[in-house]
Amino acid sequence: MKTIGVLTSGGDAPGMNAAIRAVVRTACENGMKVLGINRGYQGLIDDDIRELNIRSVSDIIHRGGTMLYSARCTAFKEEAGMQKAIETCKKHGIEGIVVIGGDGSFRGARDLSLRGIPCIGVPGTIDNDIVSTDYTIGYDTCLNTVMQMVDRIRDTVESHSRCMVVEVMGNKCGDLTLNAGIAVGATAIVIPEIRSDIEQHVINRIRRTQKTDKKHFIVMVAEGIGGVEELAKKIEKECGVESRAVVLGHVQRGGSPTVRDRVMASQMGYKAVQLLMNGIGNRVTVLKDDHITDYDIYEALNMKKAVNDELYKIAHEISI
Ligand code: ADP
Repeated sequence: MKTIGVLTSGGDAPGMNAAIRAVVRTACENGMKVLGINRGYQGLIDDDIRELNIRSVSDIIHRGGTMLYSARCTAFKEEAGMQKAIETCKKHGIEGIVVIGGDGSFRGARDLSLRGIPCIGVPGTIDNDIVSTDYTIGYDTCLNTVMQMVDRIRDTVESHSRCMVVEVMGNKCGDLTLNAGIAVGATAIVIPEIRSDIEQHVINRIRRTQKTDKKHFIVMVAEGIGGVEELAKKIEKECGVESRAVVLGHVQRGGSPTVRDRVMASQMGYKAVQLLMNGIGNRVTVLKDDHITDYDIYEALNMKKAVNDELYKIAHEISI
């Protein structure tokens, strides 16, 4: 391949810039031309494309967000939009594309691959909800952001002997809530993967902890569960502790990427270009058992993600 494209799609994540940088630098160092496609698949449809060189990606490794912007593009899901995207690829001589995004973006990459443009998916999302990989770029930065914010919340709930019910992002995946919940010493953790009587579970946990003379509580609830305002009211009524709810929101998406995200993004971006250089497409780069490897994109989309039951058990046993 002589010319490849790179785009970021779906929800943005810290570390996407580091991945773009790795893709551009690896390709340029190996004599390829790299075209940056703005706003994900929308930029392919609109022909919003610019050439990137080694210097175009200077000073971005430490920045959150994505220099290529991101978008959700419904037109790309239709055949007409897909054909426009393919025309743009032909016009610019794009022979392969690195798609940095989540499972939705990988579905788009699969469809493009099927139509003759080989794509490599690189997992980028704060949610860690991509079924094929143990790790997604942006997850570690987001975990640290959540931890820092809830540490601040702890200061105030302790001063006022309150309970705070905190809603954490993660889409339908509880990884962020569970791991951040352990890191902040939450009294109760509620995630979509473990279905139980949520209200009763949280109330039981708080009552049990009240017996040990604790007066302030943090309850972590995954976005996929929601209902934090109602839960706070219920806790106040049932446990007699003044309770509030907070939705951490989009602050969780931003910030300078951590070492882990920068290194992982660099490794995966490098791997994606290596695959294209060797004429291999229709793959996703993944972290499996601490190794970076790649899977067939179709197989990757059909895998199942298991919840870490052991971690969930530990979380509740050591927090009282
Ligand atoms: P993420 O990549 O973070 O999972 P989305 O699910 O919003 O985010 O997907 C991002 C974009 O990928 C969509 O806006 C659309 O352009 C494309 N996409 C998603 N699902 C499909 C699909 N089934 N077929 C083709 N393209 C898709």
